[in-house]
Amino acid sequence: MAAIEMKNIVKQYGDGFPAVNDVSIDVADGEFLILVGPSGCGKSTLLRMIVGLEDITDGDMIIGGKKVNDLAPRDRNLSMVFQNYALYPHLTVYENIAFPLRLAGASDSEVDKKVRDASKTLELDEHLERKPGNLSGGQRQRVAMGRAIVRDAEAFLFDEPLSNLDAKLRGQMRTEIARLQKRLGITTVYVTHDQTEAMTLGDRVAVLKRGVLQQLATPRELYENP
Ligand code: ADP
Ligand code: ADP
Repeated sequence: MAAIEMKNIVKQYGDGFPAVNDVSIDVADGEFLILVGPSGCGKSTLLRMIVGLEDITDGDMIIGGKKVNDLAPRDRNLSMVFQNYALYPHLTVYENIAFPLRLAGASDSEVDKKVRDASKTLELDEHLERKPGNLSGGQRQRVAMGRAIVRDAEAFLFDEPLSNLDAKLRGQMRTEIARLQKRLGITTVYVTHDQTEAMTLGDRVAVLKRGVLQQLATPRELYENP
């Protein structure tokens, strides 16, 4: 069963041409899917419809076998990792990772176990008492992912997480995200306008143009048949 099924998804803002036009994509369990295309092609809109931050005009969004068209974001059990990481500067790494668990009313012992497991996986266990302001960009990214994995979310969603970084750091972070995604085996949908990112990160790449799905293929297939 696919983790995420997009079935004939349409998004119409006002009366212009549709921002997303009849897009169907199945994302397999554990797959790393890239949504790529030029600015304005509809990739953020599509991602926001998966998360539930945007209503669907037509079509069905199915997550974990369940139709979620009318479900609020908090009921979809997904984790969005934002561009600026959205970390709390006044909280320690530990409390940043713990945040969603505290919100869900988890006990202290459950919080502690999950935060320690996640920080081990993410190699953050030495930094738990530090504040985000004292961390490198890579470490901050890992804290953001830690906050996402403690919730046992159905999938990770990234919206251009690296676009504010310089080229060198972007390369490092790209490698890091790919490594973590494979290690965690969590279904991931990742939006970028960067071709290199698309071709190096994804198991498959969905190419959008003016809201229409142009190609859906592995990087190798795209490379051999652009
Ligand atoms: P991308 O993420 O690929 O840059 P978007 O999904 O942001 O593209 O936008 C796709 C199209 O929908 C663009 O033409 C954009 O101007 C339009 N659009 C996006 N959000 C809104 C909105 N809230 N209201 C009206 N039009 C929007
Ligand atoms: P990005 O390309 O980084 O996604 P955008 O500038 O496309 O950023 O969009 C930023 C915000 O503005 C989004 O919330 C989007 O919904 C909104 N937006 C984009 N295009 C339009 C539009 N034509 N009309 C109204 N809101 C828009």
